[in-house]
Amino acid sequence: MLKFLSLSSGSSGNCYFLTDGVSGLLIDAGVSPRRVRKELGAYGLGFNDFQAILVTHDHLDHIRYLGAFCKRFQKPVYATPLLHEAMLRHTFTRDFITPCKRVFSEGANHLSDGIELRYFVVPHDATQTVGFAIDWKGHRFVLMTDVGCMTQEAFSYAAAADTVVIESNYDMGMLISGNYPQELKMRICRGRGHLGNEECAEAILKFWHPGLRNIFLCHLSDNNNTPSLAFESAAAALSALSSEDGRSAREITALHTLPRGRASLFFEL
Ligand SMILES: [Zn+2]
Ligand SMILES: [Zn+2]
Repeated sequence: MLKFLSLSSGSSGNCYFLTDGVSGLLIDAGVSPRRVRKELGAYGLGFNDFQAILVTHDHLDHIRYLGAFCKRFQKPVYATPLLHEAMLRHTFTRDFITPCKRVFSEGANHLSDGIELRYFVVPHDATQTVGFAIDWKGHRFVLMTDVGCMTQEAFSYAAAADTVVIESNYDMGMLISGNYPQELKMRICRGRGHLGNEECAEAILKFWHPGLRNIFLCHLSDNNNTPSLAFESAAAALSALSSEDGRSAREITALHTLPRGRASLFFEL
C-alpha cells in the first residue's frame, strides 16, 4: 500500500511525500526542513522516513530549501542532467548539492526497494521541467506540476496510472479579468506556463480509464483560482465519463484538490 501527503502545493512552496510505510520519497523541496519535520511528525514520521529527494524543476517554489536539506542530511537528490547543471549554478543550491547529486537516466531508474521511476519532460519556463511516473508496490503514481500544456508522453503515462497528481492552476475567467500585468497573464496561459482548469479537465477526459483510482489537483493559484472552481471543473469531466460496465467515472475515481501553503490529508492510494 502506498500513502501520499502533500505538505504544500502552489507558488508559495511545493513538497510531496510518498511512502510504502518502509521507504519514502520527497518530491521537491519548496518548504523548510522545519515544516517537513512538523508535517511528517504529525504522523509519527520524520527525516528518516524518506531516503531521497526528487526534483521536478529549478523554480524557487520547488527548490527554495533544497540547499538546506542537502546541507543537513546529505540525502540523494535525483534530477535530470540539465537540472543538476542548473542547480550547480543556482544561488540556493550550488554550495550544497554536489555530495547529494544523483542523475536520472532516460528510461527506468531503479531508486531502491523496488521503486522504478521514469521521468518525462513537460513544457514550462524553467531550465527543464519533468513529470514522474513511479512504479512501486503494484501502483503507478504519476505527478506532473507546472505543465504549460499536455504532451503525448504525459497523456500516455497518465493513461496507465492509478494515481495522477496534475496541475489545475487557474480559471481562465479569473486570470483574464484579474489584475496581473498582461505579460504575466500571457506567461501563465500560453503553453509554457501553467495548466488551467479547462485544460486539466480536457486532459482528464482524454487520459481517464477505469483503473484510475485517484486524481489530485495541484498547484492551484491563489489569485486566479479557487479550490471549488478547480474541483468542479475536473468533477464535470469525470461526470461525463463512464466505464464499460456503466459505472460513472465519478464513482470510480476519487478527486481531491491539494491545499496551498498547508498539508493535505495523508491519503491511502
Ligand atoms: Zn511552481
Ligand atoms: Zn515552475
